Amino acid sequence: MNTRGTFFLVATPIGHLKDISQRAAEVLAAADVVAAEDTRRTRQLLTHLGLHKRLISVRGHNEARQIELVEQVLDSGQDVAMASDAGTPLISDPGEKLVSALAEHGYDVVSVPGPCAAIVALTVSGLPADRFTFVGFLPRTAGRADDALAGLVTTPGTLIFYESPRRLEALLERLLRHFGDRRAVLCRELTKLHEEVVRGTIATLIERARQGTRGEIVVLVEGAAAVRASQGIDEEAVAEKLRAGVRPRDVAREVAGRTGLSSRAAYAKVLAIQKRRQPEDRSASRRAPAHPPLENGAGRQR
Ligand code: SAM
Repeated sequence: MNTRGTFFLVATPIGHLKDISQRAAEVLAAADVVAAEDTRRTRQLLTHLGLHKRLISVRGHNEARQIELVEQVLDSGQDVAMASDAGTPLISDPGEKLVSALAEHGYDVVSVPGPCAAIVALTVSGLPADRFTFVGFLPRTAGRADDALAGLVTTPGTLIFYESPRRLEALLERLLRHFGDRRAVLCRELTKLHEEVVRGTIATLIERARQGTRGEIVVLVEGAAAVRASQGIDEEAVAEKLRAGVRPRDVAREVAGRTGLSSRAAYAKVLAIQKRRQPEDRSASRRAPAHPPLENGAGRQR
């Protein structure tokens, strides 16, 4: 019988305190020890939940050392719940070395899932969500950041970056140099009072960043597949089909099949073409109506 305790990874809110799940609160309440990235911040959350717990610190610089301590606690049959400052542990946060060691040593590791800024941003961005690459923070040194981006130029899915507002403009300029002026989205202060989603291109976001940005941010850039697909769409052919009365949904299905775009992305592009072309189609139909008027009253019945 396994008398070892269980190690729980508990996701916590990225802004809105009500985003703590009922299960997260229950697991934190039942845990014997809480491992925290920042014990002060996690104590605030525990206090908010009305809990008082033994806390141990697990953060970047001490994580390797704390593995032994966590294993001792688990060996004594006690459960440990780990929480980072915000969101999902391990995602640009501590926990990777610990989980890797615990998994290797046969301990039970259980996730209590919840908020993650990257996923929240992806889902509201409007960019393809069927394939994505989480990049997180780029390396601080310019050369390593450039190497990382050079390796992402042909990556098909949406790219997700974390960055501090102080370095946002520099990040966007770097992105522009590597990717050209792709579609991009800036998500700021997600789930918080001043939540904001700015959709545009990398160049328009640079303009925006120059006005100053505060708060926590995620930057998303469309992947190479979406770029290829938008270049590969024959807009004239799509417009022709729409004029002929084919439903946008059916046109989108055909476009998705041909270009490899997701059906959602193809549908969005077809609707965008329809919207762009409407004024043109209306003036064309004024010039050449589908049913030309009868001349000299010919055929009119009196
Ligand atoms: N573990 C967290 C998660 O699951 O998203 C990420 C922790 S990482 C240290 C912090 C970064 O996540 C921030 O610099 C920002 O890029 C992003 N982030 C966290 N909360 C956010 C929010 N409410 N809105 C936008 N970005 C956020």
